[in-house]
Amino acid sequence: MTNKKVCDSWFATQQVDEGLYLITEPYYYSYNRANLWLIKGRDQDLLIDTGLGVASLRQHIAGLIDKPLLAIASHIHFDHAGGIYEFEERAIHAAEAQALREGDAHEALCSQPGWVHSDHFECLPYSGFTVEEYTFNASEPTQILQEGDVLDLGDRALEVLHLPGHSAGCIALYDRRSQALFSGDVIYDGELLDKLHCSNIPDYINTYQRLQKLPIDMVYPGHYQTFGKDRYLEILAEYLDRRRQPGCPEIGINQ
Ligand SMILES: [Zn+2]
Ligand SMILES: [Zn+2]
Repeated sequence: MTNKKVCDSWFATQQVDEGLYLITEPYYYSYNRANLWLIKGRDQDLLIDTGLGVASLRQHIAGLIDKPLLAIASHIHFDHAGGIYEFEERAIHAAEAQALREGDAHEALCSQPGWVHSDHFECLPYSGFTVEEYTFNASEPTQILQEGDVLDLGDRALEVLHLPGHSAGCIALYDRRSQALFSGDVIYDGELLDKLHCSNIPDYINTYQRLQKLPIDMVYPGHYQTFGKDRYLEILAEYLDRRRQPGCPEIGINQ
């Protein structure tokens, strides 16, 4: 990667609503590029996902933060939890707390050879960056999340939904009042990954059956574009149709 230039700015930020910002890593491979959501509350700010951890997200968003900030990993995968070590207050679901504590690159999907390839970087996050030296940094969670926990930001509250399937510790955050769902990799409008070593298709099916009953106005996913209720219900139905067929040979196989 020696012939690549260093990026001027690794992150890009756009305001999508009052008190809601979307941060991305535009020079990173679009298929794995995560959506990082910053929610500014009255008493507390919340950052949902932290990107690869190859540039300082903390510095990038410093100008937007004026209250205590809690960084949350929607799950342990490197494209979401890679940068969480930078933040003083960090939370992850109980099922993946140990993996974060140990900096478990296998669970984070970034052990070599893995999902991190040099041609996925259009420019370098810093001079001398190489994918061979890319590591998933260990950090101690300061808060362990469980199903039903409520994160109260003062003027809005987000409820933790434990939704395993893609990985064991996947969560989404649900704002019951506005019916907004910050969904991580549980549901997005793109190819769903349910055959990773950490995935479980029967769990994914249970998760989607549960999500069918959840009132939704807007989904803010971990990848690709936001979408509303109609597309949400379509994605759920398409997945369940595909995976719930009697004798479906893929059910129960995790590879
Ligand atoms: Zn993932
Ligand atoms: Zn992802």
